[in-house]
Amino acid sequence: MVQVLDRFEIINDILVIKWEGGEESYILLKALRDRCPCAECSGETDALGNLYMGYDKPKIPAGYTIMKVKPVGYYALQFTWGDGHDAGIYRFELLKELSDLTD
Ligand SMILES: [Zn+2]
Repeated sequence: MVQVLDRFEIINDILVIKWEGGEESYILLKALRDRCPCAECSGETDALGNLYMGYDKPKIPAGYTIMKVKPVGYYALQFTWGDGHDAGIYRFELLKELSDLTD
C-alpha cells in the first residue's frame, strides 16, 4: 500500500504525521535522529567490506531539534536538525517503522 502524507507538525519532542486516510504516526525526535538513514550516520561499506562510521551521534541537545522539514517528492521527508545535519532522506516506510519506537 502506498503511503500518502497528509500533513505533519512538531509538538515538543515529537513529530506527528497524519497520513491520508486518517492514520497518525508519533515519532520521538531522538529516535528519528538516532536512526538517520544517511550514509554518514548509518555507515558506509567500501569495496572490501569495511564499515566506516563517519558521523557521531549528536552530543548537543540542538542535534535533536528540527529546524526545517522538506518534502522529497511524494515518498520521503528531509529534516534539517539543530546542529545543521540534513543529509538524511526518510522514506515514508521508515517513518512508519519509527513510529513504534520509544527511544
Ligand atoms: Zn545522517
